[in-house]
Amino acid sequence: MSRRNEAPEETAASRPWERNIRRVTPYVPGEQPQGGRLIKLNTNENPYPPSPGVCKALRGLDPGALRRYPDPAASALLKALAGYYALEPEQVFVGVGSDDVLGMAFLTFFNSDRPMLFPDVTYSFYPVWAELFGIPYETCPLNADLAVDPRDYDRANGGVVFPNPNAPTGCFLPLGQVEEILRHNRDVVVIVDEAYIDFGGESAVSLLGRYENLLVVQTFSKSRSMAGMRIGYALGSPALIRAMQDVKYSYNSYTMNLPSILAGEAAVKDEEYFKETVGKIIETRENAKKRLAALGFTFPDSKANFLFIRHSRVRAAELYDALRARQIYVRHFSGPRVEDYLRVTIGTDEEMEALYGFLEEYLGAG
Ligand SMILES: *Cc1c(COP(=O)(O)O)cnc(C)c1O
Repeated sequence: MSRRNEAPEETAASRPWERNIRRVTPYVPGEQPQGGRLIKLNTNENPYPPSPGVCKALRGLDPGALRRYPDPAASALLKALAGYYALEPEQVFVGVGSDDVLGMAFLTFFNSDRPMLFPDVTYSFYPVWAELFGIPYETCPLNADLAVDPRDYDRANGGVVFPNPNAPTGCFLPLGQVEEILRHNRDVVVIVDEAYIDFGGESAVSLLGRYENLLVVQTFSKSRSMAGMRIGYALGSPALIRAMQDVKYSYNSYTMNLPSILAGEAAVKDEEYFKETVGKIIETRENAKKRLAALGFTFPDSKANFLFIRHSRVRAAELYDALRARQIYVRHFSGPRVEDYLRVTIGTDEEMEALYGFLEEYLGAG
């Protein structure tokens, strides 16, 4: 590429208009390698296809309908979700993946001079949104077992968010302890990010009736095999949902496209398929715990569709490279504590067998 158009003496910050640019350090998503013969266990996607009802809804979509704007309220999807959770449609907010919903919730609810709180080892998007929106925050260290300690959240703050089960550890915080955090935080909004709740945890949705300041966020990306469709949602009191809608309608009214609304509605209605695929993943995960422990790995007990593993002898970075060379992709994070671990998404039984096979060979030789 020609570099002739660059003015050599003007470096980045010296051009006046550059001083007005909002500088941020973005979230880095897991890689999406292309190609057929690889085993992808790095971004917690579901190894099974979406439900047959979703495929039918998409095939039945009349492309002519795309001429019009979609329903800005995504009413059909709200209604399906409200029915599924036995809530009112006024208690449901939908967005373009739960990242959109969480970002909107940060913008809406965390508007205090006091710092908001989240765990030190958690979803790495939280500090990115906080920085982007200028929200002060502090992190609460996980305990020695890599679990959230509810007592850390018993202090003045501007709001609380944590995933349950946590990512990337997979640790599930029992509902009693979630409620302990809520009991000590009645004056701020508490967000429970339940991206992985369907894989064996117990949802905080049952606490919504008692805590008007609780927002539960879930997604179609993991348990419903629809990461590519981008559907997330929040469940909460009508007052919280209304506030989020006001912010949304002040920014972009038409977040949900028509195919997403229809496919999402179909997915919620196909409960049998949902239970079957989630059940298969749980079974594969429980088997993975035995197989990986036998190979010398340790990990916090996981109720998610991934395991956060470390080996007694071999460093995580070395293992990551060795796996990658064999076209097996897992996730390795940098930073204190987490860099000793690999996060391995639960795939199909066949994919997991390929992983165990390689590890047996590699660790046996090492
Ligand atoms: C995957 C994930 C999300 C976001 O998923 P979307 O695809 O945007 O719905 C949110 N929180 C956690 C903890 C996640 O792991």
